Amino acid sequence: MNQEPKSNSLPISIIEEYCTICGICIDSCPVGAIKEENEKILIDETLCTLCGVCVSICEEGAIVIEKEERVAFKLEDYKGVWVFSEQRRGKVEPVAYELLGKGRELADKLDCNLTAALLGHNIAEEAEKLIQKGADNVILADEPELANYRPEPYANVLKELVLECKPEIILAGSTTIGRSLFGRLAVGLSTGLTADCTGLDIDKEDKKLIQTRPAFGGNIMATIITPNTRPQMATVRHKVMKELPFDKSRRGEIIRKNFSKEILNTKSKFIEFVEDLSQRVKLTDADIIVSGGRGLGSPENFKIIQSLADVLHGAVGASRPVVDEGWIPFSHQVGQTGKTVSPQLYIAIGISGSVQHLAGMQSSEVIVAINKDSNAPVFNVCDYGIVGDLFEVVPLLTKKLKAVIK
Ligand SMILES: Cc1cc2nc3c(=O)[nH]c(=O)nc-3n(C[C@H](O)[C@H](O)[C@H](O)COP(=O)(O)OP(=O)(O)OC[C@H]3O[C@@H](n4cnc5c(N)ncnc54)[C@H](O)[C@@H]3O)c2cc1C
Repeated sequence: MNQEPKSNSLPISIIEEYCTICGICIDSCPVGAIKEENEKILIDETLCTLCGVCVSICEEGAIVIEKEERVAFKLEDYKGVWVFSEQRRGKVEPVAYELLGKGRELADKLDCNLTAALLGHNIAEEAEKLIQKGADNVILADEPELANYRPEPYANVLKELVLECKPEIILAGSTTIGRSLFGRLAVGLSTGLTADCTGLDIDKEDKKLIQTRPAFGGNIMATIITPNTRPQMATVRHKVMKELPFDKSRRGEIIRKNFSKEILNTKSKFIEFVEDLSQRVKLTDADIIVSGGRGLGSPENFKIIQSLADVLHGAVGASRPVVDEGWIPFSHQVGQTGKTVSPQLYIAIGISGSVQHLAGMQSSEVIVAINKDSNAPVFNVCDYGIVGDLFEVVPLLTKKLKAVIK
């Protein structure tokens, strides 16, 4: 009996001898990629994402995903720290500069080069800035196909570069692009990835990357290492690391790389960039944030928060329950599952100060808390605390500030 899976360009196959055509895989497929035709189960390669749901649900073991053989490699062959320098519409994102600040520290501890990997089109000017912000050199992939982010060509290009240059560590922003790209890259390279790190360091003994991030709902800080594979890859949110000042005297090499059409090829098409204009001031870039929590009692009361934010020329933030209740859009949420912010002034109003909320705002320069419960945990982290009813305190504060701020 032939038990070999039928050949297929995706590494997923049906072993016909085992398949009873029960149809359970058809129902389980989240992307509708499986169908029955002429008493055979067929997988539509254009839809299949290799998620593996059908493999685990098939009781006959008739569906297999062949795992790529790992290429044998030595850990010591991998050298250097890379920062994926995400760009949008031709401009490097601030998170990349912040990662260069941390990357510089890690590279100095490892006594190796810090490289910025920049993918885009007509972006050589940005490459110079990356050197002035701490990189020793820049690997520049300048192709029309890379002008705007698309998962396949970006992941293919980065994978190719990693296989050629063998960096030991790669850092990327925990942005929508970073999250999409680095999950894909980690699978492609069969290596680990720690998302949303809040701390990165080098182990003094064995020189491995120590990756710290909140775990179990933010109640503990986990230390994660990647002992057996390379590169060691981590993503970090905007505003968690500090960028270095521009140093115009820094010089470095810009290494241009070209790629074949197969590598740049993609099924997806860039249509249009639509900017989120739902916020008057972008939360992560704001110097002043006024945040409201469940203590507000109802969505209408957010106007109290908005008025104070307007007077201070700041942005409006929120705790998670009020976002979950639909009082304000998710783009305003601060915390572990929302945005990480680090403004000069953060005012928490009617917010108790849970660990998950603090995880997103604790590094603010000055924290002011307004809460009627003097035992609220937020008072343990704030610089200035006002114990009182927000409906009395905030309008009064807004009125007083309006009189002095133009
Ligand atoms: C995995 C996970 C992820 C999470 N991620 C996030 C996150 O990203 N961001 C986040 O915020 N939360 C997050 N949470 C939820 C978090 O645990 C808390 O439930 C939440 O932060 C509480 O929000 P709050 O402070 O607005 O509400 P509460 O904890 O209900 O606090 C309301 C506060 O308002 C005060 N108050 C009430 N009335 C008044 C008044 N009239 N005047 C003054 N003060 C008043 C009360 O004394 C109280 O301290 C997460 C939870 C989990 C499990």
